[in-house]
Amino acid sequence: MSINFRVLKEAALEGRIAHLFLFHGSGTKERRRAVLELAGVLNCKGEHRPCWECSVCKKIRSGNHPDIQIVRPQKTSIGIEQVFSLQKKIYRKVYEARYRICLIEEADKLTLPAANALLKIAEEPPENTIIIFSSGNAEGIIDTLQSRAQLVYFSPPDEEEWGEEREEFRLSGGDPDLARAIQEHSPDHVQRWLEKYFDTIESGDFIKAFGLFPLEKEECQIFLQVLAVIIKKMVLKGQVSPQVLTEIRQTIEVIRRQVNHRLALEVLVLKHMKLGGTKIG
Ligand SMILES: [Zn+2]
Repeated sequence: MSINFRVLKEAALEGRIAHLFLFHGSGTKERRRAVLELAGVLNCKGEHRPCWECSVCKKIRSGNHPDIQIVRPQKTSIGIEQVFSLQKKIYRKVYEARYRICLIEEADKLTLPAANALLKIAEEPPENTIIIFSSGNAEGIIDTLQSRAQLVYFSPPDEEEWGEEREEFRLSGGDPDLARAIQEHSPDHVQRWLEKYFDTIESGDFIKAFGLFPLEKEECQIFLQVLAVIIKKMVLKGQVSPQVLTEIRQTIEVIRRQVNHRLALEVLVLKHMKLGGTKIG
């Protein structure tokens, strides 16, 4: 069962706080902002916590607080050596905070040994230390970790909040991380590629797939994620087989694991053609 952030904040203000959390939903930036706010609630010296005025709050906001540790994936995953280096830091005395906060971002990218090492830490947590796993999808987190953590859900922001970037937001299906990635690569560029993709599938002519390249690996991952958003809508309308969506998701996963993305995409095109093209729009 997930609670929402407001409930967690109220509990923290009253000094009731668990030491292991899983923040899920919305985007990485949104969840990080919430973690810093929680750090403020727990450590601020002001009267209305967080005040964002005191020395503690200022350090938190500028990312310079020595008791806030953030671990992110290096390349494609968070490995055991990163957990060991975190471990060294957190069994030392807390520098100046009441509560030390360890944030594990994109926690669905933890390797299994890394996740297990973190679980061990969570079983015998260092004093006044709160470990927060953060991930867009809780499903990517191993069960043992999920069942021990307090889940906190963040709903995605409304489309209106995106102002000029609404197009990106719409293409992303409401995923703030994907919307930001689309913005970096320009929504026009993404859309043109998708048109080529659907054109290839429609034609049933594999030669057309060559028009999808050249393609950087990162670009390929973003395009496929947007493709998954479109196909998901089509599946819900009964326009396309759910199998197509499964194939796309699997392709995204194999590309993430360092497989040659050109080959993976060509295989996907062939499978998609076989499963039957569908009119888009
Ligand atoms: Zn403060």
